[in-house]
Amino acid sequence: MAIENTERKNIVLHLLALASRLEGEGQYNLAKLARATADSFLRRAAYSLTIPSNKDELVADLEQTVDALSSFDVDENLLVALKRGAAAMAQGRLPLIRETPHPYVCRACGHLALGEPPEKCPMCGAWASTYQRFLPVYWLDAFEPLAALEKLRQTPLEVAALLQGLSEDAMNQPASDGGWAIRNIVSHLRDAQGVISFRVDLFLQNEHPILESKAVFAWATNENERPPLTREILETYKASRAEMLSKLDKIPLAYWWRTGEHEEFGAVTLRQQVSYFAAHEITHLPQIALLRRG
Ligand SMILES: [Zn+2]
Repeated sequence: MAIENTERKNIVLHLLALASRLEGEGQYNLAKLARATADSFLRRAAYSLTIPSNKDELVADLEQTVDALSSFDVDENLLVALKRGAAAMAQGRLPLIRETPHPYVCRACGHLALGEPPEKCPMCGAWASTYQRFLPVYWLDAFEPLAALEKLRQTPLEVAALLQGLSEDAMNQPASDGGWAIRNIVSHLRDAQGVISFRVDLFLQNEHPILESKAVFAWATNENERPPLTREILETYKASRAEMLSKLDKIPLAYWWRTGEHEEFGAVTLRQQVSYFAAHEITHLPQIALLRRG
């Protein structure tokens, strides 16, 4: 098929259709290249679009997008979930799993189901295992247990190295856009460590713990009940991390697949929770490095 003059949009569609056919032939290495190219094209195009970053404008954009979606052939449950999520965001909170269930997309025909996949796809008859589940964030599956433990051991050392030689004043300097100072980031890492440490204990004590949703992000600028110096906050973070790691180093292998009920994310394993926090804190290292330079 001649694709030389096809527009970018059509190339993306063509690549995805081609990938499905290649998978049908067992040509998985070729299919992966086609899928990655399509994904790259879409992300590059999206990267250059301007979307508001202000919360109210984002909610308004989301509501308009839902309206636009309703003129397409889109599952009513999906529209309802999007509206519920937008309403939660407008109230200043995170939507819970019961309001915004995980979506599943049939890899064969694109049928979308919410909550769990049907036994048979109503559009093409594919089995439930054909559906792709969309998790809220890749951090949940970023690291296998041993790699996650290694990251959790390393990151506090990297944070300490980034803080080396900085005065308390320098660490209290807000970002040029008025955003977090280094002190807020270190507080945030310590807060997140407090949450994962608490959850690890729940997983070790219960086979199916209930995990409450925590707005950890909002605590970073709260100065109540904190040690006065950033380096002291760092020390409490490191001490809590070391204590948690000593527990995780000793647990039976099967404990990593214990499943908790997370208010925001639904069923999550200990493995996913630990991966999440290990991946999350790495994203703050470049932020500290940038503030250190600036
Ligand atoms: Zn299908």
